[in-house]
Amino acid sequence: MLYRRLGTSGLQLSALSFGAWVTFGRQVGRGEARDLLALAHDRGVNFFDNAETYNNGVAEQLMGDVLADLRFPRDSYCVSSKVFFGAVEQPLPTQRGLSRKHVTEACHQALQRLRVDYLDLYFCHRPDPDTPIAETVAAMDTLVRQGKVLYWGTSEWPAEAIHEAHRIARENHLYAPVMEQPQYNLLHRERVEVEYAPLYEAYGMGTTIWSPLASGLLSGKYNDGVPADSRLAQPGYEWLRESVLGHGDERLGKVRALQPIAAELGTSLAQLAIAWCLLNPHVSTVMLGASKREQLAQNLDALELLPRLDASVAQRIRRAVEAG
Ligand code: NDP
Repeated sequence: MLYRRLGTSGLQLSALSFGAWVTFGRQVGRGEARDLLALAHDRGVNFFDNAETYNNGVAEQLMGDVLADLRFPRDSYCVSSKVFFGAVEQPLPTQRGLSRKHVTEACHQALQRLRVDYLDLYFCHRPDPDTPIAETVAAMDTLVRQGKVLYWGTSEWPAEAIHEAHRIARENHLYAPVMEQPQYNLLHRERVEVEYAPLYEAYGMGTTIWSPLASGLLSGKYNDGVPADSRLAQPGYEWLRESVLGHGDERLGKVRALQPIAAELGTSLAQLAIAWCLLNPHVSTVMLGASKREQLAQNLDALELLPRLDASVAQRIRRAVEAG
């Protein structure tokens, strides 16, 4: 495994990490979750990502049960939660958002579900237009000082709001956000590469990036339709299917254009797409998702491809995606 610093912080995360979205508590039950976490940890993965909203808390509960069952030493892994959407079907105003009340209660609930004494990373899952940023920064600072959170960060906040959080933290001597959790993959690059560029320089922020395969699309699995057991066939995820596939053939064309490059390198499309994310030095960790052990095993092998992605291959990949 390769380890990278989370921005300029002292925390070293495995370059490939593992998250629970959609899968835990839906496609993946206790036995499979145990297999997946054991495989990941065995291969050097030291960061497991979660959120209050993933299957309304069930994903955290399942991960907590399995982590306790596997008895990994607590100092051998990091676990996260994210706050904003709430953990119930129709949250009351106090059960969602980034108010001091919900940020605090969601942290306590995540600690219980995950069965840990502290969260290594805690994210504000989206910006909250109904809460002053200063209130959220102060609430996060309190949790850090109480030892319940080690590093706090944002997820999909506009760069402007992150600048504001840093300004407030600096002026009031509060702990500032250390990391962002944005989407980043071959089909979704702008925010990480352009909008956030000043944040790495100014604040030494790191990124824990999500959907490296664009929900599986970049593995090529949707080239000939939607397999019945896949994420995009899950009931309740019609919105995701629309967002991933609802662009005519444009995105599928790009995936197909990458196929000859993967074939030439003797690798899978999934491994190519995952290793490509790591070419960006501002990516601290690529968060993988998997509903099956074989997927995770294959994706973890993407690291072996990394040394072969030199500048000329990277250029061919870029051109294929632009032209496809
Ligand atoms: P990916 O884009 O890698 O999608 C993962 C899914 O793709 C798997 O569950 C599986 O779905 C399919 N897949 C994975 N590997 C393969 C393979 N080798 N061959 C074929 N299919 C494959 O990542 P995620 O979208 O899951 O994102 C990773 C993590 O990031 C999440 O688990 C979550 O922790 C976090 N996240 C954070 C968000 C945020 O807003 N902060 C938003 C989204 C995710 P299937 O088998 O069902 O088809």
